[in-house]
Amino acid sequence: MTEPMPNAYVPGKGALAPAEAALVERRLRLLGPAYRLFYETPVHLVRGEGVWLYDPEGNAYLDTYNNVASVGHSHPHVVAAMARQAGTLASHTRYLHETILDYSERLLATFPAPLEHVMFTCTGSEANDLALRIARHRTGGTGVIVTENAYHGVTLAVSTISPSLGPGVPSADWVRVIPPPDPRRLGPDTGAAFADEVRRAIAELTAAGIRPAALIVDTIFSSDGVFAAPEGLLAPAAEAIRAAGGLFIADEVQPGFGRTGTAMWGFQRHGVVPDMVSLGKPMGNGYPVAALVLCPEVVADFGARGRYFNTFGGNAVAAAVAAAVLDVIETEGLQENALRTGARFAEALQSLAARHDALGQIRGAGLFLGVDIVTEGAPDSALAARVVNDLRAARVLISATGPAAHVLKIRPPLVFDRDHADLFCERLDTVLTVLGR
Ligand code: PMP
Repeated sequence: MTEPMPNAYVPGKGALAPAEAALVERRLRLLGPAYRLFYETPVHLVRGEGVWLYDPEGNAYLDTYNNVASVGHSHPHVVAAMARQAGTLASHTRYLHETILDYSERLLATFPAPLEHVMFTCTGSEANDLALRIARHRTGGTGVIVTENAYHGVTLAVSTISPSLGPGVPSADWVRVIPPPDPRRLGPDTGAAFADEVRRAIAELTAAGIRPAALIVDTIFSSDGVFAAPEGLLAPAAEAIRAAGGLFIADEVQPGFGRTGTAMWGFQRHGVVPDMVSLGKPMGNGYPVAALVLCPEVVADFGARGRYFNTFGGNAVAAAVAAAVLDVIETEGLQENALRTGARFAEALQSLAARHDALGQIRGAGLFLGVDIVTEGAPDSALAARVVNDLRAARVLISATGPAAHVLKIRPPLVFDRDHADLFCERLDTVLTVLGR
């Protein structure tokens, strides 16, 4: 298990201007000790537009990390929809209103049958928490299987299935972890081997007298280190959990909404239809809207026996904003752009890797890329942290992920174009050249 946020600001390490030092001190005083800031020298932001973020001096930072502002920071179409709906009606799901239904029809049309219901939440954590409740109700089991460095959110239940939070956050006897597929050892039996891990975890749960309720997987293994291959990997694992009476939950909070390029949803790359799919981050381009998409059969008894109401989840403003986000994805061809720009970006990084030993394996799908930072082929988390901080000094925002925190996680807004990719590579080239790597 790793230190949870390797690139977090450490007091006294970076050089801070007086105004930013004062903000850091105020945050600590007001927000307490649990928050973390990115970078040795934290970035103070006042405005965003497209792929750019700006500090108070007007300096522009290239955002290569933000999958929340997925259609671009402060997109005018989304902002207008938000303002229009907020100025008209901002009520909740206990009154009749068309907007949530119009949006649900459009959203569900992007899912294969039988994923035909959507329940709204405000955060990805709530969506996963609800998924666990429904899985337990449906299966009568409690056991949950997750990958070794997974992150699924902040509630009591989902923090318990988020080993990437580190040893300071307790796990539970109903959780079993399995290794994600090793991207350096992919072969025709990778999917079968991953399913074997699921079966091993099921056997462990069963031996402990715990019935399995679910396998939950981030379909691009974001916090495990960005593993997009091989396609089809998740299908045998889903079969394995279903054979044991459990459900397969796809966490699409990171890869969803077109980011992987070839598909709207990450699970579609794996030839599998999940029982439930959690959505979040990019869904509202910054407005807190998230959801759980699910098969009617899975939720039928849960719904009959108990009510579901989420005060802000699916409110009229959330629905209007989410619809505007879909408009932009469609009209600006952002899934297509993720595919095209992502492929070109990966190629540019490959040619950079030919000149810099520090760059190891490059992998991903669409505009979700992972780059191993290595020394003599071995993961080098200290170097990765150096690169992340030096890129920040060069006004390119990025972070690192994976259990050894040595994987550059490249996940820009989907309006990223080839010039932005070139600029990123140029700055990475300079940073590595200065480091002599
Ligand atoms: N699942 C995954 C894969 C995530 O990356 C996150 C957020 N980082 C969540 C769930 C939780 O979402 P939220 O922060 O909106 O609660």
